[in-house]
Amino acid sequence: MSKHDVLVFFPPRPKAMAQLEAAYTLHRYFEAADKDALLADVGPSCEAIVIDGHTALTRAHLDHLPNVRIVVCSSAGFESIDVEALKERGIQLTNSSDALLDDVADVALMLTLAARRQLVAAHNYVRSGDWGQRGMYPLLSPISGKRAGIVGFGKIGQAIARRFEPLGLEIGYTARSRKDVPHAHYPDARSLAAWADILVAIVPGGEETRALISGEVIEALGPSGTLINVARGSVVDEPSLVEALSTGKLGSAGLDVYLNEPNPNPKLTSLPNVTLYPHHASGTVETRDAMAQTVVDNLAAHFENRPLLNPVYALS
Ligand code: NAP
Repeated sequence: MSKHDVLVFFPPRPKAMAQLEAAYTLHRYFEAADKDALLADVGPSCEAIVIDGHTALTRAHLDHLPNVRIVVCSSAGFESIDVEALKERGIQLTNSSDALLDDVADVALMLTLAARRQLVAAHNYVRSGDWGQRGMYPLLSPISGKRAGIVGFGKIGQAIARRFEPLGLEIGYTARSRKDVPHAHYPDARSLAAWADILVAIVPGGEETRALISGEVIEALGPSGTLINVARGSVVDEPSLVEALSTGKLGSAGLDVYLNEPNPNPKLTSLPNVTLYPHHASGTVETRDAMAQTVVDNLAAHFENRPLLNPVYALS
């Protein structure tokens, strides 16, 4: 039996790529010197696309791919993919949130604890000898009993809430829709921030959420508040964040993501009240392999007419 043709916009990790090579005829868009020529040549025969969430997949690409029925994305986010164009053409989309939600929630927790308890500054206090010279490190504020507002209450937002609860944090959230959970729902990020001590952003990127965490939201969080961003850099109004952290309008921030990656604004990264991580929330070997495996498993399910394991939406 002939193999299905699959177009690879972005290759998954080697073990997964080897499985794809064995099962399908792969066309390597990501390394083609003349991408237009490749699309014109093999586009009509391709039935599936393998991609990650940072690589563009546009309406113009899809015009050359009339027989594609599924896009399998190895990331959780997919703002670089034209989802409306996929839906219009009846194309399925899968992602990898289920594989990475524990790691990303762990990093949200880590950044929260590190920012609130000043881990980096305290570490340097010991290492530099300041402790011996200057005495006890300044007193801080406990985590327990504080209020954590989660902006975006999907798979990862709910995994973050599950980690926060045992710490004695009270949870509130905002999302497009109200959830059947015992936590307070807030209609928007501004009202959630006014209630919260800690605000965690974990919504998708893209135009709809650009600067959702606005200057107004940051000021509502206030001088003793902490902003944690494990979503996308675009979700936060970064100039307002720099201004608020520099002038004491916001207490602290813990950031995994930035507007300009991998060279974030030095005005932000040099501030003493930020704790920084290099967009590495899902950056463990096991999780990256599990994310890549979702690509293999969803493609297999599609071609064997089984239900998809990680569908992003249901086609009507
Ligand atoms: P998800 O399950 O789809 O959840 C997204 C949540 O955001 C949902 O609760 C959704 O509301 C809410 N939301 C969407 N648009 C909104 C808006 N305009 N205003 C308010 N809330 C909005 O996605 P997920 O798997 O939790 O992942 C969320 C995002 O995390 C990803 O898209 C990605 O950008 C980011 N991420 C980052 C990393 C990292 O390395 N730092 C790793 C993985 C993912 P409804 O529930 O009402 O639909």
